[in-house]
Amino acid sequence: MDSCNTTACQSAREIFQELEEYYDEHNLYFQTIGSVLEAADILDIPHYLKLIISQPKNEIMVHCPVQMDDGTWQLFKGYRVQHNNVLGPYKGGIRYHHEVKLDEVKTLALLMTMKCALARLPYGGAKGALKIDPHAVSPRELERVTRRFTAALENNIGPDYDIPAPDVGTNAQIMAWMADTYINFAESSKKVTARGVVTGKPLEFGGSAGREKATGQGLVYVLETILPGIGIDLSTQSFSLIGYGNVGSWTGRLLQAKGSKLKAVLDHTGAILNESGIDAEQLAAYVRNNGGVAGYPDAQKISEDSFYSTPVDLFIPAALEQMVDLEHAKKIQCRVLVEAANAPTTPNAERHLLEKGVEVLPAILCNAGGVTVSYFEWKQNRQSETWDEELVDERLRKVMRRAAQRVLDTAKELDCNMRLASYAAALQHISKVYKTRGVFP
Ligand code: NAD
Repeated sequence: MDSCNTTACQSAREIFQELEEYYDEHNLYFQTIGSVLEAADILDIPHYLKLIISQPKNEIMVHCPVQMDDGTWQLFKGYRVQHNNVLGPYKGGIRYHHEVKLDEVKTLALLMTMKCALARLPYGGAKGALKIDPHAVSPRELERVTRRFTAALENNIGPDYDIPAPDVGTNAQIMAWMADTYINFAESSKKVTARGVVTGKPLEFGGSAGREKATGQGLVYVLETILPGIGIDLSTQSFSLIGYGNVGSWTGRLLQAKGSKLKAVLDHTGAILNESGIDAEQLAAYVRNNGGVAGYPDAQKISEDSFYSTPVDLFIPAALEQMVDLEHAKKIQCRVLVEAANAPTTPNAERHLLEKGVEVLPAILCNAGGVTVSYFEWKQNRQSETWDEELVDERLRKVMRRAAQRVLDTAKELDCNMRLASYAAALQHISKVYKTRGVFP
């Protein structure tokens, strides 16, 4: 029996029934498309468009046999989901995680479509993943798996068609191996532009200044645009972080540089607290050397429960999906929940937080800095240019401030919360382009 009676659930259920798709109300993809469709209903988006965005255009699944260092063989499952490309080439990260599932990748691809549209980037949305624990294999094994996975995707990616980037468990080195593999397949006349097949590459191999910190930097620009309007001054705030990887650690360091105080961090190794403040730079160096926050000497070890209950001004999940559920939301004491990770808050948790008066800033706005600087990298590769960090930051600031203002204006105009406003602002753009282009044939 159907249990969920929210508008989002009803919208998703209707579409899934029409498409004769199996659905489960606890499923991340069902929940996420539900929120997007709720925004579509507020805007009166045409039905054909709701059908189109409800399913990805392509779901590619590959299996990659790779010989390990000890001579044994393993078969790795990989995905690339291309959700929509009406605005431009598919764009989205590649995740390496041992528990990754197709529906998670579909959700992340859908969110990329929304994110690029909200930021008005000339990209569609995609996401990829490889089912592997990158910390459990040797560097040589990681390289072989990456090259084999890239070869398996070769016909479905390209600088004008689908452009991967780093995400959880991947980094600039993995992007370099992907680009190098792809270049080896490219025709001689296309080898120069072929490195634009991925972004987030190392600087010396066509990467962009400012890409590594871009997601955290973009988030700070969003907060600088939105927080003054709700009476919050970044220079006096305390904050906590789930995750201290790329996004978490850069967010921590850049917020600290603005005068905010990092009080608590939770990652896959444990949770730590220091009421007087944790030095975000020192913690970043510690995590680089030790693989996680556990054992950091200038903070006390705390339980996961205590982490969620620690009062802070800004609570920032920057790890995996659905980490903030209803039980956690009941414990959280903050003024603003800032979604640095993709889809970190379950719908029940969000409802509870909003009822308590917490402002929830949605991921497609907060973490759009990563794909924005990826776009700058792609542009530099196409034009054989190198921008300095100052120029990258200045352009990023402009894109993020405009996107944040777009969400504020839409929330006011439609009298809705920030998540619905961000989806609505994205859908307005996508819908205009569909109307102008038409749907083939
Ligand atoms: P990362 O691999 O660098 O870091 C992931 C972090 O999550 C690590 O600190 C890890 O300890 C933590 N983590 C993993 N499992 C956990 C658990 N069970 N409990 C607590 N913490 C756990 O990944 P990242 O690139 O920083 O990505 C983080 C999030 O930001 C993801 O949702 C990703 O999709 C999103 N994102 C990343 C980028 C980017 O440019 N890297 C851009 C936009 C959005």
